[in-house]
Amino acid sequence: MFRGKKGVIIGVANDRSIAWGIADFLHKNGAQLAFSYQPGVLESRVRALAESVNSPFVYACDGAEDSSMEEFFEKLGSTWDSFDFMVNGMAFANKEELIGRYVDTTRAGFLKAMEISCYSFTKSVALSERFMKDGGACLSLSYYGAEKWMPHYNVMGVAKAALEASVRYLAADMGPKKIRVNAISAGPVRTLAASGIGDFRVILDWCSNNAPLQTNTTIEDVGKSAGYLLSDLSSNVTGEVLHVDGGYHIVGMKNPLAPDAYKV
Ligand code: NAD
Repeated sequence: MFRGKKGVIIGVANDRSIAWGIADFLHKNGAQLAFSYQPGVLESRVRALAESVNSPFVYACDGAEDSSMEEFFEKLGSTWDSFDFMVNGMAFANKEELIGRYVDTTRAGFLKAMEISCYSFTKSVALSERFMKDGGACLSLSYYGAEKWMPHYNVMGVAKAALEASVRYLAADMGPKKIRVNAISAGPVRTLAASGIGDFRVILDWCSNNAPLQTNTTIEDVGKSAGYLLSDLSSNVTGEVLHVDGGYHIVGMKNPLAPDAYKV
């Protein structure tokens, strides 16, 4: 499916990362991959994972710094003069913003969440443009908290709503160059990023109990749908947010923390 194709994976922290689920599927289907890591403690884990899929390129990329993002793509240019797809799974909000009420969000916390969880995708699409000479596909990762209130998701829900709007604006900008821009809205998955969200275990249970398919989402599920959105199978699809969540977004919402939450 991806033989002869190459692309960039941003946002792997470890082998439980959703971006890793995508990378693993793409590699198993023939793609060549380049990886970024967030500067700091994650480097050795990402290097080991990249080596396991024979990646020729692993380099630091800090979503909070234009210069770091630019340097990453510049360095990539000395390895590849073109690539076909780019996946960006970066997201961040201060832990204290993901408990309690949204109304108490600080200005600094708001800007930080927006910067990493929304703007970094726009910047990475801009930096990918020159590499996608014959068209390409860009993918970001969102969550249902962009559309509906979810307990404790708070400023991240607002950032994801902005990210989903960005996907549409970017799709319009990139369309004439045959670069498609889409997002996957994944159901809850136990990852490093999710560990910062209050009552996450309850949200996981609520989702598997109420989703029509009665399962929780796995990184393998997301990997397969990413394969669709990053390949020619979705050749005329852009600006789309695809839900990979066992169908739980179609269920009438209740507060999963309410006392009777498990009664559908
Ligand atoms: P994860 O912790 O494995 O991945 C988050 C990534 O963001 C990490 O690789 C981290 O290094 C990176 N990151 C954060 N700040 C950064 C910075 N300043 N510079 C560079 N990288 C930075 O967790 P995940 O759950 O796999 O998250 C991947 C994406 O999926 C995120 O956008 C997340 O919001 C989204 N998502 C997660 C879930 C879930 O339940 N886990 C559900 C839907 C969507």
